Amino acid sequence: MRPSSVFDRKLEMLDRAAHRAWLLERLRATVAAAYEKAPAVRRALDGAGLRPADVRSLDDLLRIPVTRKDALASLQAADPPWAGLLVGGRLQRIHASPGPTFVPQGSADDYWRFRMAFAAAGFRAGDIVVDTLSYHLTPGGFMLDAGLRSLGCVVIPAGTGSTDLQVTVASHVRATGYAGTPSFLRTLLHRGRELNLPLSIEVAFATAEMLPESLRSELETGFNIRVLQGYATADLGVLAYECPEKNGMHLQPECIVEILDLETGKPAAPGEAGHVVGTTFDADYPLLRFATGDVSAFAAEAGPCPCGRTAPKLKGLLGRVGDAIKVRGMFVRASMIEEAMKGFPAVARFQAVVTREEHHDRLEYTVELAQGTSLDAAKLSEALREAVKIRGEVRIGSVPPGAPRLDDRRVWK
Ligand SMILES: [Zn+2]
Repeated sequence: MRPSSVFDRKLEMLDRAAHRAWLLERLRATVAAAYEKAPAVRRALDGAGLRPADVRSLDDLLRIPVTRKDALASLQAADPPWAGLLVGGRLQRIHASPGPTFVPQGSADDYWRFRMAFAAAGFRAGDIVVDTLSYHLTPGGFMLDAGLRSLGCVVIPAGTGSTDLQVTVASHVRATGYAGTPSFLRTLLHRGRELNLPLSIEVAFATAEMLPESLRSELETGFNIRVLQGYATADLGVLAYECPEKNGMHLQPECIVEILDLETGKPAAPGEAGHVVGTTFDADYPLLRFATGDVSAFAAEAGPCPCGRTAPKLKGLLGRVGDAIKVRGMFVRASMIEEAMKGFPAVARFQAVVTREEHHDRLEYTVELAQGTSLDAAKLSEALREAVKIRGEVRIGSVPPGAPRLDDRRVWK
């Protein structure tokens, strides 16, 4: 299988203390420039009583207010077009993403910092790569495109759709690489076999959706393709990427990633799930403590990674903020409950409600049964406890259509 490589040995393998010093220098320069040129940053820092000169260690990052992705649309609407966050004036492109929010592409060559991620995945100069994220308004296609070209790859700007044409092109030019969602890669490979147009793809970078291990193993063993993945957002670019160890994604070393406890907003301990918050240092459009809305966790570390990279790892995407809450210290998601409910076909609708009584979290499930069915409530209760790791009460009753599956009604006083 295609070997992986390290793009920037100096930075990717820098020891932790030296890397923190490097990041602090970038942070100080970025805060100073943003305070000078981005009115929204100046307001936020003034509001927090923080001057650029006060940023003396990486811990001072915690004093900078967080900007939430779900607030960005209204901030941009109130102060068009860039909500007072733009620092430099040299843009290459302007993108839009659902929300709607607008995403400027600054002047840097590999603006979203993907080159290290592609090298780790085994891409190299001369690869001909099918880039299948959309190039239409949204930045996805261009994000991958810029990283690939900075590595010396040749890009086929395929975008989404037109499966047969993509297979024809990739087969004709003997494409060796693929970048995009893993499910579409599978579609292309199977279609290639059906059309008797074999594809010569050796290496793939998967992003923008979950990569189940069953799918990875089908692509690796069935088609002999190395498949590694990365985590990126439209606003921040790539934040983490896998190395050949495949047990988590190393943080991209040119940015700062924090995981913040969903309740307290304070840094979460390794292994604890929390809100992914990123800080980038682009000269045109840096983002300071931008909260993505995604939930992840730092992987617990057993020792240095055999690949030689020194950056900590993210466990991968665990969900979205809003569908995940912490109950009695445990992380509960609606999807976990739904999975357990699937084993009980009598359940037509359900709702889990969390309340707080006498400083104790209380979890109650209301389940509405399909007509003419019955349910062993104790058995369901046991299955739910198994799924979410905490005990809740099951009540049979009625659930209004469209009710949130997991409703947090706790009031914090
Ligand atoms: Zn590694």
